[in-house]
Amino acid sequence: RETRMGLNLNGTKVYTGAGGAILEDVPHLTDWLSGLPTYPNPLKYNPAYSAARQYFVEETDTVAKDVVVNINDVGHGIHFRRAGPRDQIYFKPEEVRACIVTCGGLCPGINTVIREIVCGLWTQYGVREILGIDGGYRGFYSKNTIDLTPKTVNDIHKRGGTVLQTSRGGHDLGKIVDSIQDRDINQVYIIGGDGTQKGANAIYEECKRRGLKVAVAGIPKTIDNDIDVIDKSFGFDTAVEEAQRAINAAHVEAESVQNGLGLVKLMGRYSGYIAMHATLASRDVDCCLIPEVPFYLHGSGGLIEFVRKRLRESGHMVIVVAEGAGQELMAESTVNNNDLKDASGNKLLLDVGLWLCTILKDHFQAEFRETLNLKYIDPKYMIRAIPSNASDNVYCTLLAHGAIHGAMAGYSGFTVGPINNRHCYIPIKRVVAKSRNVNVADRMWARLMSSTNQPNFSRYEEVVQRQRKLNAQKQEEVENEKSTLSSN
Ligand code: ATP
Ligand code: MG
Repeated sequence: RETRMGLNLNGTKVYTGAGGAILEDVPHLTDWLSGLPTYPNPLKYNPAYSAARQYFVEETDTVAKDVVVNINDVGHGIHFRRAGPRDQIYFKPEEVRACIVTCGGLCPGINTVIREIVCGLWTQYGVREILGIDGGYRGFYSKNTIDLTPKTVNDIHKRGGTVLQTSRGGHDLGKIVDSIQDRDINQVYIIGGDGTQKGANAIYEECKRRGLKVAVAGIPKTIDNDIDVIDKSFGFDTAVEEAQRAINAAHVEAESVQNGLGLVKLMGRYSGYIAMHATLASRDVDCCLIPEVPFYLHGSGGLIEFVRKRLRESGHMVIVVAEGAGQELMAESTVNNNDLKDASGNKLLLDVGLWLCTILKDHFQAEFRETLNLKYIDPKYMIRAIPSNASDNVYCTLLAHGAIHGAMAGYSGFTVGPINNRHCYIPIKRVVAKSRNVNVADRMWARLMSSTNQPNFSRYEEVVQRQRKLNAQKQEEVENEKSTLSSN
């Protein structure tokens, strides 16, 4: 049975199987180094694993990206390599010197991933040299490393945050790879979001360019669940669960007063998954605003009309807004629009929560002579800081083990994650190519709409045009006033 090899648009390896399926493969150290994975996997001699039949993953085992397919198309479509231990490995366990680094924002579960990489390498493969890089990418060249053993990481999964500390910025590629070379590191485990994974890919490319025997494994972290291809990211479940507490509080506050409005801002810079799932889980939410669905305030079908109607009907309401929602609308109506960026170059968002508070309160007072009893809750840093829940802990364990099996087998420039509930190896290039958004044409958003019965804001474009005109007029008036003042 023949397979054909080629390259896809991202430059990743692609195999077309005899059955017509396409495998998007991950790079392997043998792409630029000699030798083959010929060391026997020590798990063969571990009674816990040898008891499991079919424990090892075959090189021909793949996972289909789409499981809902047209019956006539079965066998075609994109597949990824299944994650898991290989019978033959590329690294002799005693020669492995691994390091772990965490970058970007916090997310529940980072410590569990660190713990399981350390314990997995130690107990399953007998690796004894595992280093923690302190404080994100810049820790490679500006700080000493931390020795990690099962003892030192034993109970870190019970704590939120990252015991290795994290940072933004500081991705100096030359210095990082020099440090990897100087310290004789040959396995690099990188936990972080989209920016971190772009940085991880650059490290993989540079190691390849220098011809180094260094496996680079990315463990994608994003509380927003916006990583393409994989089912969901670690910490997401925990975040949705913790968000319930904020929504409950907002509901209690709103219910206990007249004209009560509880407003909760949740994470989601570009993708509204947390807001959508928290809303669906809660049933107390009357309106969910996400970045993917532009909304407008005034006029028929706008947010203000809906708030008034809901308050009339039930006396109180709860709004959940994702932090990235309404950015355009705010930019339009904020004269002093800023263009600030964080240390990694990410655009800083305008605060939609505070903005909505002011707009809604002022409007109800001015237009309807009504006082809105508005309570605003922003639980972002409380959610990010908690330890992961039970299901995320199990998930983090599988991710960490997937990463170490892949690195030991000699793969590099890969990330790991579940696709249709089976853990897979995915080229880093593939997961950073684009982020994932809530598909509002999908049934999940329709379920939310039927649960909240909120407007679909379909007249958005028309209203935005009008708003733009009004703002331009306002701006002109301000400028005129300024010039009149200065000429006086
Ligand atoms: P999150 O957005 O979930 O907080 P993130 O990984 O996207 O996580 P960033 O602060 O954007 O967080 O990036 C983390 C690290 O990755 C930083 O040290 C940054 O310098 C580096 N980085 C970001 N983008 C790139 C890039 N395009 N190439 C190389 N390194 C990058
Ligand atoms: Mg990011």
